[in-house]
Amino acid sequence: MKPTPKKNPAPFSTPPEDASFPETTAESRLELAIEGSGTGVWDRNVVTGRIHYSRGWKALLGYAETDLTDGIEESYTRIHPDDLTYVQTEMQSHFDRHTDSYAVEHRLRCKDGSYKWVCSRGKVTERDELGHALRMTGTTTDVSQIHALANRLQQSINLITNLTNAISGMAYHYSVALDGTAAYCYVSNGIDEIYELTPAQATSTGALIDARLHPDDLADWQSSLQACIASLQPWHHDYRVILPRKGLCWRNVHANPSRQSDGSTQWHGFITDITERKRLDIELQEFATTDFLTRLPNRRHFMARMQEELARIHRGQPGSAVLMCDLDHFKKINDTHGHAAGDMVLKHFAGVLQEELRKNDIAGRIGGEEFAVVLSGATLVSATLFAERMRQRMVSQTLTIAGQPLAVTVSIGIAVMLASDAHVEAILSRSDSALYRAKDAGRNCIETHCG
Ligand code: GH3
Ligand code: MG
Ligand code: MG
Repeated sequence: MKPTPKKNPAPFSTPPEDASFPETTAESRLELAIEGSGTGVWDRNVVTGRIHYSRGWKALLGYAETDLTDGIEESYTRIHPDDLTYVQTEMQSHFDRHTDSYAVEHRLRCKDGSYKWVCSRGKVTERDELGHALRMTGTTTDVSQIHALANRLQQSINLITNLTNAISGMAYHYSVALDGTAAYCYVSNGIDEIYELTPAQATSTGALIDARLHPDDLADWQSSLQACIASLQPWHHDYRVILPRKGLCWRNVHANPSRQSDGSTQWHGFITDITERKRLDIELQEFATTDFLTRLPNRRHFMARMQEELARIHRGQPGSAVLMCDLDHFKKINDTHGHAAGDMVLKHFAGVLQEELRKNDIAGRIGGEEFAVVLSGATLVSATLFAERMRQRMVSQTLTIAGQPLAVTVSIGIAVMLASDAHVEAILSRSDSALYRAKDAGRNCIETHCG
């Protein structure tokens, strides 16, 4: 007998009932598959208020098949009281066609009394001719693990935010893309102290922060940032800002860069207020370089600036003249009128000198009643004219000490600073020897060192 050929089943045809799963239909398979994924199915008759829950839906909350009734009122008692209004409002909104579908996250009470976070989604599947909802079906998914994860994540974020808000200064996360686009991804509340802005303002646009930078420091700030992008070394930079309330302040940034896979660079770091430190630095700098009595540069600072002037001449710039000025018979003034009167005379001479100086000239108090001056770019002739003006002003501008006029004269020696000079000391000693000749010549006069 010829065997009957085996027929291939038609594609997408309903497979024959499997004897080992007698109740398995296409519909119940779908339900099983959904339940296997931790999701329950519900089907609500909106008119009668009866709800059918799948076995999996009940199992989700720990209920047995016979534990629940199908009444809508009972279902409301399972919803967490704090979520009920929200759930009912969203449901009504969908009934009224304000939304395409219904989707809410809320808490449902389990059989053991605990609450579980679920996500309920559904849709009205039948309406009457007036559009009133008749039937609605949907699913309920257990999202408690995602919620627990989200909670832990939120706790971590809160911890970091609280810590960064507690430090003095501003913690921040900054990024610069390959095309140069910059963004502040995170800034702590300290931005109010550092830039007088809010975190939301900074994260919306970095331009507001750029606008706070001192215009004279912006280019330096940017080139320092670019150098950091190239080197990926920790970024340390001091710069000034101009703030609406506090005005000019100093800031220090300390941030660690890292390159991202898209080529962008990111920094995590903090910015602190260093205004007070800078003020002290400037004050210390002034202490170290300025003579307290006359406010002129002290000997050390004057020598350093004279060295710069000599370097300028070594680079081929025109020579300068160096004057050595010494007050005449100063000891006698001290002895006759007291030390305080002597101090007044020193200040008086420094004032006269400063009035005669041009922008590039340098003057310093290099000894008790000895002052040196570098007249930048001056010749022996122009320097002699300057010295003569000084000498005459000292003669004509008498000081009044204890109600009596006091004439103080000055002797001045002049030498020129030459490209052939290796050291500033040699030039000063030439001016000094000219000064000695002026003293020898009777004081209150000027001598030049020639040759
Ligand atoms: P000469 O005309 O030769 O320059 O004589 P002089 O008296 O000006 O020179 P001398 O070097 O003999 O005396 C300088 C005096 O300056 C001695 C010193 O006590 C005094 N002196 C130095 N520093 C100060 C100071 O800071 N204040 C006052 N009041 N006197 C000072
Ligand atoms: Mg002297
Ligand atoms: Mg003197």
